[in-house]
Amino acid sequence: MRLLPMDLNADLHAHSTTSDGTLAPADLVARAKAQGVELLALTDHDELGGLAQAQAAAAQLGLPFVPGVEISVTFAHHTVHIVGLGVDAASEPLRAGLAQVRSGRMRRAQEMADGLARVGIDGALQGALKFAGNLDLVSRTHFARHLVERGVCSDTREVFGRYLTEGRPGYVPHRWASLKDAVGWIVAAGGAPVIAHPGRYRLTPTEEWALLCEFREAGGVALEVATSVHTREQVRRYAQVALEFGFEGSRGSDFHGPNESHAELGRVHLVPDGLKPVWHRFV
Ligand code: AMP
Ligand code: MN
Ligand code: MN
Ligand code: MN
Repeated sequence: MRLLPMDLNADLHAHSTTSDGTLAPADLVARAKAQGVELLALTDHDELGGLAQAQAAAAQLGLPFVPGVEISVTFAHHTVHIVGLGVDAASEPLRAGLAQVRSGRMRRAQEMADGLARVGIDGALQGALKFAGNLDLVSRTHFARHLVERGVCSDTREVFGRYLTEGRPGYVPHRWASLKDAVGWIVAAGGAPVIAHPGRYRLTPTEEWALLCEFREAGGVALEVATSVHTREQVRRYAQVALEFGFEGSRGSDFHGPNESHAELGRVHLVPDGLKPVWHRFV
């Protein structure tokens, strides 16, 4: 019998083919179960379309499941990701908001392909689309997989560094949701807003402070303290920040697929003692 939510192997950040993961929702759930995950959230980028299939698969396997989403936000000219946990996928404000966030993706993808064509890489849009499981959600990840398949780079990490980040030929600046809107949609859908992988943003200390304050002000409740891209030091630092701000702690692998991810499902740092785990809400 479980005594404390803290002891659960919770993985509250993962992707399926509904966004830029490589496993279909039901396959992701099966893999999580096989890896010993005890509470799973599916958090596809800007999209709720995989939740029903994941929920059904989880029910069949007896794996407790949290419906989630990861919303792309523009904050101080940076892209920041806000995870929503325990959202109602039927929520109209959330659905309408996400539809709006998704709407510019295909146009952006065409511009990315134009940029790549200018440096001699033709046909990248068609190539990327072959990797996209959802035509509403073409992402940089799909371009990266295509360029690896073509042998332009040896792995997706290299593609991002050479082609898909600011100042590189396939990078197209994009305006996503506002922080206030994204948090508001999650709250309206009954969910808990969480700042995803806070250590990954290249914010100045002042910008980071503003992000934390505005997030809390808007109704944000947790920081993803334990994530696969954080070092031990970052886990400690963001646990401290969470305590200072009165946030709960979340934990997620940000799994995208068996061969690409920093971490396997359920294998990620623990949320340090003393911090309330955000999943107390779901167990
Ligand atoms: P997009 O929403 O189209 O801008 O794509 C963002 C996605 O690209 C993220 O969710 C990651 O899955 C992936 N990504 C971003 N930066 C990198 C990187 N440096 N290496 C590998 N994947 C990355
Ligand atoms: Mn992704
Ligand atoms: Mn993210
Ligand atoms: Mn993610």
